[in-house]
Amino acid sequence: MAIKIEHLTHTYNPNTPFEKTALEDINIEIKDGEFVSIIGHTGSGKSTLIQMFNGLLKPTMGQVYIKGQDIHGENVDRKAVRQQVGLVFQYPEYQLFEMTVWEDVAFGPKNLGLNEEEIRERVAYALQAVGLGEEYYQKSPFELSGGQKRRVAIAGVLAMKPSILILDEPTAGLDPKGRDDLFNKLKEMHKGLGLTIVLISHSMEDVARYAQRMIVLYKGKVKYQGTPKEVFAHGDELEKIGLARPQIAYILETLKEKGMDIATDILTVEEA
Ligand code: ADP
Repeated sequence: MAIKIEHLTHTYNPNTPFEKTALEDINIEIKDGEFVSIIGHTGSGKSTLIQMFNGLLKPTMGQVYIKGQDIHGENVDRKAVRQQVGLVFQYPEYQLFEMTVWEDVAFGPKNLGLNEEEIRERVAYALQAVGLGEEYYQKSPFELSGGQKRRVAIAGVLAMKPSILILDEPTAGLDPKGRDDLFNKLKEMHKGLGLTIVLISHSMEDVARYAQRMIVLYKGKVKYQGTPKEVFAHGDELEKIGLARPQIAYILETLKEKGMDIATDILTVEEA
C-alpha cells in the first residue's frame, strides 16, 4: 500500500474565530503503482490532503501511513519517509533558479550529499523521464517554453527518486499541446517507472483519460471513490457539487481508447 489515510480530520486555527475544518474523517487507500486523481471544487480540501501525504501538515486527528509506516508515529525516520513522496506544487516552474537545466535538476540530489556519479545518474534519469534530451542540459530554464519549464521542475522532484509522485494541477496554464505532452509523459512514468501517481485536477476529461481511480472531495469529505466510470455514473450529482458533467462524447472516446465495452459503458452513464 503506497498511502493509507485513516479517520483523518484537519482543522486550521483551532479554538480561534478563524477555525476551519478543511478535512473530516477521511479514509483513503492508494495502492502501489496506482494512478489516482483527486478531484473537487475550490475549497474542497484537495491541497490540505496532499500536504498530509508527505507530512508537511500534521492532522488534527487520524493516521497517515506511507508504505505501511505511520509517518507521525514514534521512532519513524520522517526524512526517509518524506523522500519517498515527491510533491509537485502548482506552477512549480516559479521555483527554478539555476543557470542551466542540469544544475536545477541536480540541486536536490546535491543536497542529499550524493557523489558526483550518482548525481549525474539521477539527473540524467529524471530528465529522460520528462522527455528532455541532452540538447537541453546546458540551456537556461528561462529559454524554455512553459511546458518544458514545468517538466524541468518535475524532473527536479523525480531526481530525488520518490516512489510516489503527487502533482497539484500539473497542467494548469499550459496550452493544449503542452498539456497532452505532459500527460503522456506522466502516463509513461506511471507505466515505465512503476511510479504511484496522485494527481489533483478539476478537469473531468483529463481524469477520465488518465486516472485509474478517482477520489471526489466535497466540503472536506470523500463524496465518491471509484473508477472514472463509477464516478461519472453520478452525472447530475457531480454538477450539484460544482464539477462539470463530463461530455458523453468525450467519455465515449476515452473508453474506446481504454478498450472498454463502449455500448454498455455509455448506457450506464447516460441512464444515471
Ligand atoms: P482546495 O485545494 O480544494 O481548494 P484547500 O485544502 O486549499 O482546498 O482548502 C480547504 C479549506 O480550508 C478551505 O475552506 C480553505 O479556505 C481552508 N484553508 C486552507 N488553507 C488554510 C490555512 N492555511 N488557514 C486557514 N484555512 C485554510
